[in-house]
Amino acid sequence: MLIKRDFYIDGRWTAPLAPNDCAVIDPSTEDACAIISLGSAADTDAAVAAAKRAFPAWAATPPAERKAYVEAILAQYEKRAEEMAQAISLEMGAPIDMSRDSQAPCLPWHLKNFLTAFDHIEWVRPLGPHAPNDRIALEPIGVVGLITPWNWPMNQVTLKVIPALLAGCTCVLKPSEESPLSSLLFAEFVHDAGVPAGVFNLVNGDGAGVGSRLSTHPDVEMISFTGSTRAGKAISKAAAETLKRVTLELGGKGANLIFADADDRAVERGVKHCFNNSGQSCNAPTRMLVERPAYDRAVEIAKQVAESTKVASAHEPGRHIGPVVNKRQWDQIQGYIQKGIEEGARLVAGGLGLPEGMNKGYFVRPTVFADVKPGMTIERKEIFGPVLSIIPFDTEAEAVQIANDTPYGLTNYVQSQDGTRRNRLARQLRAGMVEMNGKSRGAGSPFGGVKASGRAREGGIWGIEEFLEVKAISGWDPDAEGIAAE
Ligand code: NAD
Repeated sequence: MLIKRDFYIDGRWTAPLAPNDCAVIDPSTEDACAIISLGSAADTDAAVAAAKRAFPAWAATPPAERKAYVEAILAQYEKRAEEMAQAISLEMGAPIDMSRDSQAPCLPWHLKNFLTAFDHIEWVRPLGPHAPNDRIALEPIGVVGLITPWNWPMNQVTLKVIPALLAGCTCVLKPSEESPLSSLLFAEFVHDAGVPAGVFNLVNGDGAGVGSRLSTHPDVEMISFTGSTRAGKAISKAAAETLKRVTLELGGKGANLIFADADDRAVERGVKHCFNNSGQSCNAPTRMLVERPAYDRAVEIAKQVAESTKVASAHEPGRHIGPVVNKRQWDQIQGYIQKGIEEGARLVAGGLGLPEGMNKGYFVRPTVFADVKPGMTIERKEIFGPVLSIIPFDTEAEAVQIANDTPYGLTNYVQSQDGTRRNRLARQLRAGMVEMNGKSRGAGSPFGGVKASGRAREGGIWGIEEFLEVKAISGWDPDAEGIAAE
């Protein structure tokens, strides 16, 4: 059992002011695998105060030096990547091979993309030839609070901490109480990289304690949040009193439009993508919209893929899906499957209860519903489990209408060999991202949604800009340029 009660504040491992133990549960076994402490408002205040003290010097640190610290964090990761993969797998149940291949590598992937983008930032630039004495300066916003979920823990931590540091902000990270172990290890990387005290702080805790204190703290200039739409609304309200900048990455209900001319693997790819990470991805293509002539065959393929998807412990090597993160999530998914059955969707694979032969762990049967109608609960709600809804459509216009008729707008998908149609649909779908024919977004592409999926873009240059203020300066002396360029 790991004992990890301390927080990382002002460059030191610091005991909680009022210990409040919380067990981290291994979702594969339902056993406690670690004890952390949930922080209090006083712990949060101490971390914010450290970040506030560190801000002036960090903001004034030349960008090239800030970059060198971030490169040193990457070097720490590269020495300890296996530990990171193990921590993620243990705390949230990603199968160990998947954790090694896709969960943990989110850290170096995003970090390197940020470094590339960072080289292109012009910190002080002319407004234009019409205004020779005007300059536009980019400056860090200040102390930022970073609140992250458990489903892709290092993905989200990296997407927030690294651009904040590169921008010159100091920060307090509150990772999800479900997945604190990877973030504690990340804090060790930051410490061993020699990042100055107070620049990065970590306080474990829950939403009601640390999360809400960060959201209301007068010395926190910005909250960058990833999580549920429910918590995003609560944070926006809480942050309004101090007029913080709030960036939100929230839920999704992705539509995957499969036309009859799609490539042969489109359905299989879509089902596997929906089940990846046991369905716990905000951008999962959970609504498969299939053109009528291809519909029966698609349902058959989806059934086969679901039935051949192995479900097993996160500690077992191999290409299977693991448990979902906790009992609450498991119960919620069961409730949605029940609703799907009650509301008349056709259950073609999976269903209620634990997979056959299992009696422990938060495992969910890979589930496929066909004949799902727009408006059914399973078509509207973000289930966050391995549950696919298949919906037939007759015309392209109908497909767009169904895809867009959701409160969410994160990622939509199109599968068709017709390039003209793909380009047309890419513009008609209301979403922050559209991915077509299995092509994933390129390095440095902005991640984020519209409508109830959030207000932010993370990754690449956009992700760094979220942490910057734009200052307009007139009366600048071009002859003295260079002195204050950085
Ligand atoms: P959650 O909203 O319950 O928790 C997320 C984080 O917010 C946790 O750290 C939690 O402690 C904190 N929190 C909760 N209530 C809070 C409050 N009132 N004030 C301050 N902090 C609070 O979400 P979750 O269950 O951890 O994650 C799953 C959700 O995250 C899903 O809805 C998923 O779609 C979403 N998500 C979105 C993206 C994206 O980029 N759009 C990425 C991953 C996950």
